[in-house]
Amino acid sequence: MSFENLGLEPELLRAVAAKGYTTPTPIQAKAIPAVLSGRDVLAGAQTGTGKTAGFVLPLLQVLGSAQGKLPRVLVLTPTRELAAQIAESVADYGAHKNLRTRVIFGGVGERPQIDGLRAGCDILIATPGRLLDLCEQRYCNLSQVKHFVLDEADRMLDMGFIPAIKRVIRMLPVERQNLMFSATYADDIRALASSMLKNPVSVEVAARNTTAERVEQIAYRVVKEDKRHLLVHLFKNGASSEGAWTQALVFTRTKHGANRLAEQLEASGIRAAAIHGNKSQSARVKALADFKDGAITALVATEVASRGLDIKERPQVVNYELPNVPEDYVHRIGRTARAGSTGAAVSLVAPDEASLLRNIERTMNQRIPFVTVPEFEAIEIRTSAPQRSSGVSDGRQGQGGRSANSQGRGGRQGGGQGSGQGSRSSAAGAGNRGRSSSSSSRSSSTPSGTQSQGRVGQRRPATASR
Ligand code: AMP
Repeated sequence: MSFENLGLEPELLRAVAAKGYTTPTPIQAKAIPAVLSGRDVLAGAQTGTGKTAGFVLPLLQVLGSAQGKLPRVLVLTPTRELAAQIAESVADYGAHKNLRTRVIFGGVGERPQIDGLRAGCDILIATPGRLLDLCEQRYCNLSQVKHFVLDEADRMLDMGFIPAIKRVIRMLPVERQNLMFSATYADDIRALASSMLKNPVSVEVAARNTTAERVEQIAYRVVKEDKRHLLVHLFKNGASSEGAWTQALVFTRTKHGANRLAEQLEASGIRAAAIHGNKSQSARVKALADFKDGAITALVATEVASRGLDIKERPQVVNYELPNVPEDYVHRIGRTARAGSTGAAVSLVAPDEASLLRNIERTMNQRIPFVTVPEFEAIEIRTSAPQRSSGVSDGRQGQGGRSANSQGRGGRQGGGQGSGQGSRSSAAGAGNRGRSSSSSSRSSSTPSGTQSQGRVGQRRPATASR
């Protein structure tokens, strides 16, 4: 299958070739002809499947060239990052077309957006809140919309946008083409789909959660207080001593937690920035740009901010805290396996998160293996250099160093049986699974099912500040 076979015009084929795409992804192979035929489409597409090109390419073709002042395509997205990313895709895929695109989202001044609308556009990409604001103030007129795209509908639902979407839909002409994309299909989404779509073509690519299958996933049992120390260790050594991580996207549950963790990572010598809904648009754009440029190593994000993040070639995702909603886990790790690539995801699971992990596993119908916690040190990050246990450095237990002890934190088990920094001892052979609090009914196995070779979990007595 090639893009030529999908009936796309030469201008678009040139743009696709310039992006380096040689083969349509499955969603593109199915959605592009369906959209070109003018039918409504209901697409079950995971994040990272190439769905954006699946609707942008055929719509660019159908629109022809610039016409009038009012938008003929409306794309609704849940977040400003996603809106900006879709606009970028439209600019890329439409490089040889004469079409005008405007983007509307909250958190920035209205004036440039109003001016843009006045100047006229063919394609409008918007988040629901700001769009409604501008429509109510009569700066925006949706009466000429012929093609309506609802992207990441399940996410819209989670974010409470469904009433706003319904209000937007009431402003659209009755005669229009509707395209709805959703990774999951809860009942509310099905209800919205049946009220919005007329005799749709259903486009389902592979089974749900296939992204999850492409991502190598592991979990560490670690008490909450130690998570940041383990994370610093992982940044510096990798998950299996493969070397320092180039970059990682780290998810926290709260905005405050994201800020705090970014500060703690910075204090540990890891360039980090936080990205979440309370950050100004310019701060979010800067953090993203810094991450893309490699100026920062860690991007600490909350759920919402992660939508639309494209971290191609940056395959490490960390769940610093597990999300409450299992689907969010799938979305998070989807950031690392874009358009068929593979990636790796590490989850730091505190004892009180065990049930969240079980829910995630049930949703994905897939196990996330716990692996042995590597040796790491709890370092007082606000003070100077860490002290290393010589038990770690010379491979013999207790040689002048202190083997880690419980320090009142759930009875951690020291070891010192690892053979030196950078080498490993078999956790099984050492009879030590890292933390005593880590041992459990789950086996310490690698994702491939082999016995973990992770070094035993020795830890310096904690002196960390909270
Ligand atoms: P999306 O799911 O639309 O967010 O796309 C995910 C990623 O896949 C983006 O980085 C796209 O640039 C990339 N992509 C989209 N279509 C293709 C394709 N046919 N071949 C290779 N990469 C693609």
